[in-house]
Formats: sequence, C-alpha cells, structure tokens
Amino acid sequence: MAAADRDDLPRLERAAHLRKDIDALEADLRAESSVLLPVWRDQSLLAGERVALIDLARARALLDASGELVWLGKLGAAGCFALDVSGVAEPLRHPVLAGAGEFKDLRMAGAALPVEHAALAAYARGILYWHRRHQHCGACGASTAPREGGHLRVCRAESCATQHFPRTDPAVIMLVHDEDRCLLGRQKTWPKGMYSTLAGFVEPGETLEEAVAREVEEESGVLVEDVRYFRSQPWPFPSSLMVGFTARARTRELRASDELEDARWFGRADLRAARERGFYVPGRFSLAGQLIEAWLAAPDAPV
Ligand SMILES: [Zn+2]
Repeated sequence: MAAADRDDLPRLERAAHLRKDIDALEADLRAESSVLLPVWRDQSLLAGERVALIDLARARALLDASGELVWLGKLGAAGCFALDVSGVAEPLRHPVLAGAGEFKDLRMAGAALPVEHAALAAYARGILYWHRRHQHCGACGASTAPREGGHLRVCRAESCATQHFPRTDPAVIMLVHDEDRCLLGRQKTWPKGMYSTLAGFVEPGETLEEAVAREVEEESGVLVEDVRYFRSQPWPFPSSLMVGFTARARTRELRASDELEDARWFGRADLRAARERGFYVPGRFSLAGQLIEAWLAAPDAPV
C-alpha cells in the first residue's frame, strides 16, 4: 500500500537510542513495513495534502540510484527513512515514484498539510539538506562519512576524525506590543502587502532575550522589555528553529532601517480589517501568524 492513503499518520518516535544499533537499522532496511520519504532538490513528495510515503520494500531500484539515506525513526511499528533523490534527473518518471505524488516546496505547500505531515516532511528536508552541505570536514577539508543512521558525519581523515552533528540555527521572532498596538514590518522581498512580526538570527554569546531586544532595536529603533517566551517552530528553510516571543515596547518612535522597507504600529481593529485596508499578515501555519492571532485573541491579558 502506498502510504499516501494513510491519513492517520502515527506520531514519529525519533528513538535516538536505536541510531547506534546497526542490527536494528538493518532490520528496518529489510522490513516489509518500512517506509521512505523521498526529497528531491529540497522539495518534498506530496500526494495532495499529505506526505507521500513509499514502501521501502518496493524502492530498492531507487535506493541504488540515489544519495543519502537517513533513518528518521519509527512511525508506529514501521521504520521510517528519508532518501535524497536529487541525483535522479526526472524522479517522477522513475518506476518507483511514478504516480506517487508531486515534488513541492514545503515552504509554499506546508500550510496545507496536517501538522504531523508537515513536521515529518520538515525533518526529512532539514536533515538531507545538512548532509548535502557537510560532505567535507569543516576542520580539515577531507570528505566525511555518515554514521548512526545519518545523524552524524565523521571526517574520513584518521588524523582528524572530527564528528559533525546536524545543526540547527536559532532565530528569534517576536511580537512587540504596547497597550493596544503591535509592531509589524515588511521586507522589500516579501509579497506585496504582507506585514509580519520582526525576526532575526541569534548571534554567538547572546541569550535569546538579548537577541530579541537587539533585533527589534536594529530593525525599528524601538526599545523593549518584558520579553516572554511564546512557543517555537522548526523552520527548515534551510535549518532554523524559530523561537517565538512577545515583548513590551519601552519606546514607540520608529526609525528607518536597512533591513525593513517599512515598520508600523497596528491596532487590533487595523489587523481585523487588514484586507480592506490593503495589507495582510501570515497565516496560522507560521509562528508569526500564531503570535498575531494570540495577541488579537487576548485584548485584556498581557501577551
Ligand atoms: Zn577533518
């Protein structure tokens, strides 16, 4: 059965303790029940609004023609793998993948997927991206080899043997507010009319709270206090973890910056009538959308 039919996707258990268990991983490679998520040049194989899972037992011919294979964990009792098929010129013409779905950019298509499907596709995309970018050792330049089911790469030079682990780059995203307005901005490259929360990468030696305050000041000139954690979201485009915060504005005057084309204070009425007023904000798929929605929903509570 092509698992695209499996609407009730079990929760993925990463089962990290099995990554060093060669026998367990080999058993999953042979098992009839194991499934595979193909990723082609950062695009995920989707069947409508679901990830398309391929039965591993029927995919041997594809394994031989492909790149990195990573053991993601257990989907219920089934072993679950991600496979980089970027080297296959026309993957949907390959007999294993023909008719299984379409390759799509998760950044665009992810909003339509159920959350567990989007999370699984994000995991596969993120870890295969890391493998492609870490074929060589950052310490000595020699080639690296995958280990532990694809959760580690080790430098092949014996004198070096540096271990490289998959990396995630923390970024902060924050809804800055005062009593009754919130601060949103837009970058030049965004679609016309889109405004969103401010965001930026965390720098070495910096706490998340310090990154929030620094980014807000750099992008808008506003000073903040009372930085509070909201929630986080993996954002594998290519390898970030977005950490969401709210922050209270200590100053309100906006200053132009190179990073933003525009930044403005919006009242709740502005946001609720966004479309009529010629702008829009991100949807609930993104942490930005969730931050804005939470702020709109709790007018009297501190957010
Ligand atoms: Zn090395």
